[in-house]
Amino acid sequence: MSLVVQKFGGTSVADIGRIKHVADLVARSRRAGDTVLVVLSAMSGETDRLVKLAHEVAECPDEREMDMLLSTGERVTIALLAMALRSLGFDARSYTGRQVGIITDSMHTKARIERIAAERIQAALDKGIIPVVAGFQGINEQNDVTTLGRGGSDLTAVALAAALKADRCIIYTDVDGVYTADPNVVPAARRQDKVSYEEMLELASLGAKVLQSRSVEFAAKYGVPVVVKSTFVEGRGTLVTKEDRDMEQVVVSGVTGDRNQAKVTFIGVPDKPGIAARIFGAIGAANILVDMIIQNVSQGDLTDLSFTIPRADLPKAVDLAKRIAKDIGAKSVEVKDQIAKVSLVGVGMRSHSGVAGRMFETLAREGINIMMISTSEIKISCVIEEKSMEQAIRSLHQAFGLEKG
Ligand code: ASP
Ligand code: MG
Repeated sequence: MSLVVQKFGGTSVADIGRIKHVADLVARSRRAGDTVLVVLSAMSGETDRLVKLAHEVAECPDEREMDMLLSTGERVTIALLAMALRSLGFDARSYTGRQVGIITDSMHTKARIERIAAERIQAALDKGIIPVVAGFQGINEQNDVTTLGRGGSDLTAVALAAALKADRCIIYTDVDGVYTADPNVVPAARRQDKVSYEEMLELASLGAKVLQSRSVEFAAKYGVPVVVKSTFVEGRGTLVTKEDRDMEQVVVSGVTGDRNQAKVTFIGVPDKPGIAARIFGAIGAANILVDMIIQNVSQGDLTDLSFTIPRADLPKAVDLAKRIAKDIGAKSVEVKDQIAKVSLVGVGMRSHSGVAGRMFETLAREGINIMMISTSEIKISCVIEEKSMEQAIRSLHQAFGLEKG
């Protein structure tokens, strides 16, 4: 008999019909002999609706109150599912983050889990109860409600699986697994049977919206096997697990695109010690996450310095960059927001050479100009014009033979 954590996302519990369908899926696992713990999201669109309401009463809503508000979405779905399961004859009970004992720090709206006091939930499981737990929420040491950041129900599920030493954590969603590329962009994209935590982390943070990044970090840290599956169609899904030999055989396992990018360039920056520190010190202090950075070879004693940031931070970054430019004596600041990042990901890159060359060649053949490049052990990313992003993804997917598997 295995212990399985089953997490259902917002689209899986979007209305009563779907909640009843989820109850059937849970019932099926129980009848197959598994011990099941369920974690739910709010109905799809609900968290966004609540965020919007908050902004209608306050420009900058208080974050403690925000968490109080946002945590209500998941209370609705857990109670409804528990009722649905009870009417199927199961002893199901809903629990909030507080009732489960998910203790977090006090960073409201993006709290981190510090520990889970899982005794109550363990006792419920031991009695044969199906616990239905509200995802995305916890409490801090002061007993105030906190939330774990958008998409945080994935983290709740993985963290509970780790705390209870579950055999696996199944993330049910509206796609049937992790693909080699976004199937909406590449019709020939293929579902992968297995990806490593590290690949999944790159894919998640690169814009493949399947799992919340922090949940993948957590799963990797505690070695929780995670399966991504569809609520609506039967299938094996994708297993996210430790890297193994088979994975290394595959050079590239996925191609992703991310439009959420903007580029800022300082032109004519004095090339002397301490300048980069001043620029990125100030950008970091403004809580803007910098992704890629390039500095040109200096001409005379001046150089150009470009970096990319999330597009939403651009207005804030421009004001700041202009002030920094004045301060360090740069000639001007240039901004470009119609850019995108395409990336190849694969643990096989560690042991295969020539991937970058083939990527650049493919983009060149398509007439796509590369503005910036960055690499890590298992990833190569290029910044290109946004309008060429889908074309780039399709041609890379083909060039690396990803449709064949
Ligand atoms: N309801 C929350 C959100 O929309 C948490 C989640 O669904 O994972 O971000
Ligand atoms: Mg989600």
